Amino acid sequence: MTHYAEVIGDPIAQSKSPVIHEFWLAALGIEAAYRKTQVTAEGLGDYFAGRRDDPDWLGCNITIPHKQAALDFVEDRGDVRASIGAINTVFRSDGAIVGTNTDAAGFYAPIAGMDLAGQPVVVIGAGGAARAILFALARVGVERVTLLNRNPLKGAALLANFGLKGDALKLDSPLPPAALLVNATSLGMTGQPPLDLDLSVLPEEAVVYDIVYAPLETALLKAARARDLDTVDGLEMLIGQAALAFELFFGQAPPRDRDDELRALLTA
Ligand code: NAP
Repeated sequence: MTHYAEVIGDPIAQSKSPVIHEFWLAALGIEAAYRKTQVTAEGLGDYFAGRRDDPDWLGCNITIPHKQAALDFVEDRGDVRASIGAINTVFRSDGAIVGTNTDAAGFYAPIAGMDLAGQPVVVIGAGGAARAILFALARVGVERVTLLNRNPLKGAALLANFGLKGDALKLDSPLPPAALLVNATSLGMTGQPPLDLDLSVLPEEAVVYDIVYAPLETALLKAARARDLDTVDGLEMLIGQAALAFELFFGQAPPRDRDDELRALLTA
């Protein structure tokens, strides 16, 4: 049998992770596979019990709805439960299966060149992705975040959780000026309403980051480009979080100098 890793979730058909990992496996000539497997919430315990004893299984990525529940079945060496509260990657280490979260670092990598310490930031959304993003922002010295969400109480709880100052507001509140604006909601995704924001208050050096990757050109990014603002699209984070997981599964860094080819494949 071939060694393999996989992505699990329910539903799982939509996942782009196999395209990314298979591209890197082929590029590096690694004889292993990466597949997608549907696992229901009721089946999660059985899944980990079975895979633990499968010598070919190298680990898995985890997507909706298992990112929190999966913590119950793995070792939490990095104290992720107490910080981000959700894992997206499980890998083998010293005979154990260990959970970690590569979304935070995957989110941050494309903006690592920005000096965000002490800068005002706007985050839209308070779901799982927003948790990883707020964790990353707090780690790099951001102190004030204006968080807009359909449910502002949920936003306020998240800010407190990550020790961030700032306001939690309703989604239709006017934006304050900010160095970075991030969409961490599913608004703008295919089948969802667009995220309709007036960006005129943002300074000209502001960066607008939309983590939605289907479609790649969201109405938010279009509006930011119309104002000549720098933008980061959702594929950057998707590829970034996958790159860290790939190394944990297969023991080699993926060839990031071939991102253009990979992006073309993902958007074909
Ligand atoms: P989630 O935990 O379900 O959170 C969804 C967020 O979107 C919540 O803040 C929710 O508001 C908000 N929302 C959903 N529908 C809305 C609506 N109709 N009106 C207003 N707000 C709405 O999902 P998630 O895991 O955080 O993912 C969010 C998005 O990020 C998805 O599009 C996902 O594909 C994308 N994502 C991308 C990457 C990447 O690597 N690029 C990684 C993870 C996620 P409430 O809090 O009020 O419910």
